[in-house]
Amino acid sequence: MGSNDCIEMLRKANLKITPRRKAIIGFFLQNGRYFTPEEVWIALREDFKHLGLPTIYRNLRELEDIGILIRVFRSDQRLYYAICQLGKGKKHHHFVCKKCGRVSEVELCNFDDIAGDIESKLNCKIISHFMQIEGLCSKCMEEEMSERDEGQKVKE
Ligand SMILES: [Zn+2]
Ligand SMILES: [Zn+2]
Ligand SMILES: [Zn+2]
Repeated sequence: MGSNDCIEMLRKANLKITPRRKAIIGFFLQNGRYFTPEEVWIALREDFKHLGLPTIYRNLRELEDIGILIRVFRSDQRLYYAICQLGKGKKHHHFVCKKCGRVSEVELCNFDDIAGDIESKLNCKIISHFMQIEGLCSKCMEEEMSERDEGQKVKE
């Protein structure tokens, strides 16, 4: 998804396509990783002179409501957002790199295969599920590998 798709999503949700919203979306698309509201604010402050942090919070929440942004959960309990390239309509999950913070779309969900088992075991009705997949992205894995190789060379 490019910024055009996001603009289409704004239009569908009846949100005005303001320069600020466009800048927020562009910032996330460009960097491909998660950020705190403060980080977004610091990055955009230069271009928007009177931009306050509460406005950033409000804008991020609005974009989350319509599915352009998602929350990323980390153990420090701070608020993190990332862009969702597929939108709310499509069943999918996100892979979060623990090292660099890159967020990737995972266009796959096998949850329905086990939902029936859970429902009969617990005698419950499942309404939704949440899953955040974590690990090392391909780039960070490559880096780890070459660091390991470097270490070995020094020993030799
Ligand atoms: Zn997504
Ligand atoms: Zn990574
Ligand atoms: Zn799922």
